[in-house]
Amino acid sequence: MSPASHSIPRMKHPTHAAAVSGVVTLGWMAALFADANLTMLEVSCNRCPRRGRLSIARLLAEHGHALPGPELRRIIAHDCPRMIAGKIPDVCGVHFPQMVALRP
Ligand SMILES: [Zn+2]
Repeated sequence: MSPASHSIPRMKHPTHAAAVSGVVTLGWMAALFADANLTMLEVSCNRCPRRGRLSIARLLAEHGHALPGPELRRIIAHDCPRMIAGKIPDVCGVHFPQMVALRP
């Protein structure tokens, strides 16, 4: 039992919730991670050496459950030179490697 797990609301069917709204949100991702007993979100960029781990509970506290996934990427990559440049074909490739395994 992780110390942060009590603060993450658990949804019975996170995939269904996402299908209904059509948007991946931080809350939906948090539910997936809670189901997998993960408390840290791993962040990786395939265009720069950016690697890191962020507390999901802290992200939720700072940005709220309704934060859209793309907005989360933008926040996390706020100091990436490629994200700042804003050149769409060459934009920062920050992503969440764990989501590949967790997403249905
Ligand atoms: Zn980057």
